[in-house]
Amino acid sequence: MKDSFTTIAVFQYSSEAQIIKGKLEFEGITVFLADEYTVDTDPMVSNAIGGVKLQVYTEQTEVAKSIVRAIDPNLLIEPVLCSNCKSSNFSLKMNIKNLFLKLIPVNGKFEYNCTDCNTNFKAAEAL
Ligand SMILES: [Zn+2]
Repeated sequence: MKDSFTTIAVFQYSSEAQIIKGKLEFEGITVFLADEYTVDTDPMVSNAIGGVKLQVYTEQTEVAKSIVRAIDPNLLIEPVLCSNCKSSNFSLKMNIKNLFLKLIPVNGKFEYNCTDCNTNFKAAEAL
């Protein structure tokens, strides 16, 4: 199926996305950058629309992920799971600190609260 795409990484600026895109294409992966031109036109909207999405054919997802993982595993979008019970049921903990982080987003620094075991964890600790 060459008609479904999976977003494997998100970048704030298209220049970062272009570097990874070049590496993946060199390895034979077809890459699409969604919202690249929107962000280029107005970088201030990047956070609002969720950044530049690096997409690959779904069938190439695992190969593409392994290449990106070798460059920097933090670039990959991984599903957020509770660090204690691996549940995917959680809520974003809202406090003043998170509110500031939301205004000035820092990758993976949000704190989550597992609704199954009540563990607090940050996205960086999530597996
Ligand atoms: Zn949990």
